[in-house]
Amino acid sequence: MRSLISMLFLTICLCAFGGTAFGQVLKPETAVEKWAGKTVMLIGAHADDDALAHGTLAMLQANGNQVYVVTLTTGNVGTQDPNLSRTQLAQIRRQEEQAALGELGIAAEHYINLGYDDGLLEFEDRKAVVENLVRWIRRLRPDVLFAWDPGKNYQRWHKSDHRAASYLAADAARAAMWRLLFEGQVTQEGLREYTIPEYMFFNDYDHEDENTWVDISEYIEKKVNAGAKYISQFGPGWKSYKPSLSEPELKQMKDGVRSQIRMKDNKPVEGFRYYKGLPDAMGK
Ligand SMILES: [Zn+2]
Repeated sequence: MRSLISMLFLTICLCAFGGTAFGQVLKPETAVEKWAGKTVMLIGAHADDDALAHGTLAMLQANGNQVYVVTLTTGNVGTQDPNLSRTQLAQIRRQEEQAALGELGIAAEHYINLGYDDGLLEFEDRKAVVENLVRWIRRLRPDVLFAWDPGKNYQRWHKSDHRAASYLAADAARAAMWRLLFEGQVTQEGLREYTIPEYMFFNDYDHEDENTWVDISEYIEKKVNAGAKYISQFGPGWKSYKPSLSEPELKQMKDGVRSQIRMKDNKPVEGFRYYKGLPDAMGK
């Protein structure tokens, strides 16, 4: 009986989401280029993970959406410069991320860093990390969540922090909808449960599950300028950090970002796996 009631409830929910047979919508009903008035949240592992969506984020910001970037780690490990301490690197990564977001028109205070150590995300207390993410989901109440793709047809392998971030974001999106999970946030912090309705999953090397390509023609320069802010991650700053680059070095970095831009139907694009529906089915 209980399962029958659950089925009925699920059916009602799925219909409420206007989905297909399994409650999933796999293409945005309104083209992403026309989105306005939405709250957009991106969860990444490192400062620069959002670079996979910089053109899209710049466009959404310009079109009157509120964009927030939540990064799980401080990025305090990934350098080959022997003279940088973790603390210095974390400070540099924060500054670079805020500068990159600034190029996209996103305010510095819309960057939220949860402070975990770079490279060790999967060894953190998962419950604590999910609780932390759930808190931000319930605070920001995003209409759309951008995150590493946890995989549609099978569990996907990502490099360690990306692997962890994909599942942590998915698990947090699922947990946020249940009032009695992390209920202290509800009873003590004045937050309310929240179900994220739409998702844009990204991936840096495997594009077979993509179903949505955003035309970023008008935002190429913003994407290039933002990508060129990650001096400590790319270019000469990777081996020997310096706060600013010479003109030729800067050009080399910008050319590097430009060369990574993907083309589809003769247009520069960023690709995503779009999903709309209950969090439970986001991997189906
Ligand atoms: Zn990363």
